[in-house]
Amino acid sequence: MEQEKTMGQQLQEELLIGRKNIGIAQEEPFLQAAQAFCGPYKDFLDRCKTEREAVTRIVELAQQAGYRLFDPHAAYAPGDKVYRNNRGKALLLCTFGRRPLAEGVRIMASHIDSPRLDLKPSPLYEEAELALFKTHYYGGIKKYQWGAIPLALHGVVCKKDGTTVTVALGEDPQDPVLCVTDLLPHLAQEQMQRPLKEGLRGEELNLLVGSYPFKDDKASELVKLNILRLLREKYGMVEADFLSAELTAVPAFRARDLGLDRSMIGAYGHDDRVCAYTSLMAELEGTGEGYTTVTVFADKEETGSNGNTGLDSDYLRFFIEDLAALEGLPGRAVLSRSTCLSADVNAAFDPTFGDTLEKRNCAYLNYGVVVTQYTGAGGKSGTSQASAEFMAQVRGMLDGAGVPWQTGELGRVDLGGGGTVAKYVAALDVDVVDVGVPVLSMHAPFEVVAKNDVYATYLAFKAFVEA
Ligand code: MN
Ligand code: MN
Repeated sequence: MEQEKTMGQQLQEELLIGRKNIGIAQEEPFLQAAQAFCGPYKDFLDRCKTEREAVTRIVELAQQAGYRLFDPHAAYAPGDKVYRNNRGKALLLCTFGRRPLAEGVRIMASHIDSPRLDLKPSPLYEEAELALFKTHYYGGIKKYQWGAIPLALHGVVCKKDGTTVTVALGEDPQDPVLCVTDLLPHLAQEQMQRPLKEGLRGEELNLLVGSYPFKDDKASELVKLNILRLLREKYGMVEADFLSAELTAVPAFRARDLGLDRSMIGAYGHDDRVCAYTSLMAELEGTGEGYTTVTVFADKEETGSNGNTGLDSDYLRFFIEDLAALEGLPGRAVLSRSTCLSADVNAAFDPTFGDTLEKRNCAYLNYGVVVTQYTGAGGKSGTSQASAEFMAQVRGMLDGAGVPWQTGELGRVDLGGGGTVAKYVAALDVDVVDVGVPVLSMHAPFEVVAKNDVYATYLAFKAFVEA
């Protein structure tokens, strides 16, 4: 017989938020669905280590799901699916809905670039009969984390004749890898006195790429020459072609199940491909019964969203203007009625560094998708805070669909902070809130997420698309 609840217990139930770990709150089918969902997600991570690779893969998946290149002069019906490719580095997907565009669209906006080591325009040099690449780090990294780990080389080389060669070296187990060397502890007494941020300095992030000299008595810099010989053999390129290349070093390891219980995934680039993938799945499955959905995969978030593939550019606005024109509306009429989930990761509570977050307001692994009302730093500087009205709408939507969710903030007050693409979408007169997956070791070469949270985030996007 069930024990009758005390008045206090009853009040607790009625009044408190009462969040629970998904492992306790949800039944077996949810946990199994989360495991199943994350198999293809790991594959996505392994295939998409740069924004270009992500765009290529998402276009493939979208085309399989019936998406066609958007034609601003065509007529579209509910359920039709289109995409617009921004320079191979950012992408927009759209499913036309039954509701008129005058009621606004539903936007999901994630980013597909991740921190990494870009090659400098003139990277290759030889010193002490070793060949190395000079790099310039991209995004907010702790530089010391990038030494002495296997790195793969990804990107494109565009040649003067108009042809482009795609590079992905170091992913196949048979491929060679590259690395940034670090100093042995025996000789590191001086280095160990440096502040951690200078453990490895920017100009010390040099990639070791070769050590065999080309056999010749007359020529000089023979190790470098030999590397150039190999580059010509493999990619048909000469040294000057580096000037029109985008080559970048990323961790060479693959996404792996993490923990004896396989409850987590360790991988490079969860930030923000975990939100890209989860919003992509919700977008692909959209049937167009409700609002028109626009799913954005942005580049350059990690460097401030600038440039023509970052969300501080107008390509999202232009796309929505083109959509609006289909119904004879100005873009602003659609934008001002639109809502957006800015899909990005947030910091999860790490017991090893417990005092960096405020325990009552931060996100935890396995508590579901994180809704972050505001980001920014200091006195909310640089934030776009979601309004109470919009927060209420989002709460209602998530609870209504039974999605496990939690609130989060980016670190304790005055410690640090950061931002997402939310403010650039908000600048278009759209209601925006940040949602995403909590992450441990964010921006490290090997980041950690919990599978239950990945699945909960997908369910949140699904609810948004269907609502
Ligand atoms: Mn991010
Ligand atoms: Mn980031």
